[in-house]
Amino acid sequence: MSDMLARFEAVLGPGAVLTGEAAAEKAVSRITRLGKPIAVLLPSTADQVSATMRVAHELGVAVSPWGGKTGLVDGAFADNAVALSLERMNRIEEIDTAAGVMVVEAGCILQTACEAAEAEGLFLPLDLGSRGSATIGGNISTNAGGNRVLRYGMMGDMVLGLEVVLAGGTIVSSLNRLIKNNAGYDLKRLFIGTEGTLGVVTRAVLRLRRAPVSQNAAVVGLAGFAEVCELLRRLEAGLGGCLSAFEVMWPEFYDVVTTSPAVGRPVLVGRHAYYVLIESLGGDDEDDANRFERVLGETLEAGVVEDAAIAKSQAECDRMWALRDDAGQTVRELPIAAFDVSLGLSDMEAFVAAARRDLAVRWPDIHLTVFGHVADGNLHLIVALRDRQRRHDVENLIYGLVRDRGGSVSAEHGIGLQKRAYLSWTRNDNEIALMRNLKRALDPSGILNPGKIFDQGQPG
Ligand SMILES: Cc1cc2nc3c(=O)[nH]c(=O)nc-3n(C[C@H](O)[C@H](O)[C@H](O)COP(=O)(O)OP(=O)(O)OC[C@H]3O[C@@H](n4cnc5c(N)ncnc54)[C@H](O)[C@@H]3O)c2cc1C
Repeated sequence: MSDMLARFEAVLGPGAVLTGEAAAEKAVSRITRLGKPIAVLLPSTADQVSATMRVAHELGVAVSPWGGKTGLVDGAFADNAVALSLERMNRIEEIDTAAGVMVVEAGCILQTACEAAEAEGLFLPLDLGSRGSATIGGNISTNAGGNRVLRYGMMGDMVLGLEVVLAGGTIVSSLNRLIKNNAGYDLKRLFIGTEGTLGVVTRAVLRLRRAPVSQNAAVVGLAGFAEVCELLRRLEAGLGGCLSAFEVMWPEFYDVVTTSPAVGRPVLVGRHAYYVLIESLGGDDEDDANRFERVLGETLEAGVVEDAAIAKSQAECDRMWALRDDAGQTVRELPIAAFDVSLGLSDMEAFVAAARRDLAVRWPDIHLTVFGHVADGNLHLIVALRDRQRRHDVENLIYGLVRDRGGSVSAEHGIGLQKRAYLSWTRNDNEIALMRNLKRALDPSGILNPGKIFDQGQPG
């Protein structure tokens, strides 16, 4: 053990190999299980990551990459492994304002990258509740989604190029800046959403957009899910491509984020079957505000929407977003089981009704809260279990309903350790065999984040 630590210290330098109390402190999280890493390694450059991987490869030591540790599927669990934290590799190396491109190290916090883009009149559109802690490398490795996917896509859609260190230490520098580049395999896709199992992301070239000039937001109340779908259709058509968020909150969610101890308060008078936070981002303050108001007014007149509150200031807009961001209120009643599933829009209402009914039949005291990025087909379900022993049965029930409708057990959080048993409920045997073969080709000794997504298993 001390030999191994000395080898790591030799490549990383003094103070960059944490053990004992110092390592344990880094492994404390309220969000995710991190285990007890053998050591926490803090490289400062891609060369140091490369040298670290060479040592790990030679010694057969498992390595678990760490970003901001906000992942929700225990993908950074590092028992019997060294944790490779990218926190010192947090520089924004370049913002090319003419090309709309940012070159950034993987350990940079998402919010820091967004603010740096904004300071140059540009826009990095990824937006997550964990923006203040999650890192660019973690966002890439989970292919994070969030609030503005319907307009700008997921993290993978914002990545033009990557620098990655492979399991054996090879640095693959694929720092493409072109929007179109079909010269051979699109290698960056091997590392987007693969949860640190195929390589360590050290640097990225991100595509930025021009900063929007206008932001309009509203919270609306609706009587039924058919109206939610009709509202989405009308907004997509009426806002001319400016619709940037469509966040649906079922009443239990809205209640919990607008009632003490939550700091938020109701935005609408009266109760509704659904609440939707709508946002549009555009290029003209006055025109966009008028259009936003007109299109919403038409939905009110047509009876699609029962009530609407339009934000009249930045502070009101921020208060509306704060309700949606306060999703942590749904996990007050521990233990919980949290779900992040994908479904077709036309299946959602029946899916939620079936989940509610089947849960209540088996466990009348269980409580379900639902919210989600509905325009992306992405629902989050929080089940207050009351009894920890129920978790597995509840997961079987919910994922069974997802499978029956051809949905996915993971819309945006990944598989990690938590959903491993359910991968085959969404992916077929040949897909999983190909995943295993890719893993074997890129990481033959299985040292990179072992056990995440699937166990190592036999060749497919
Ligand atoms: C309040 C809250 C809200 C959230 N909202 C959303 C949301 O709307 N949408 C969404 O998609 N997610 C959301 N998440 C989940 C989480 O924030 C994302 O998965 C995020 O992308 C993880 O980034 P991270 O830096 O924290 O990664 P970590 O948690 O540190 O790691 C996540 C995975 O990526 C791997 N990894 C990390 N860095 C690297 C690297 N440099 N190279 C290779 N592998 C690496 C890890 O090994 C692990 O498997 C939310 C989480 C919280 C707590």
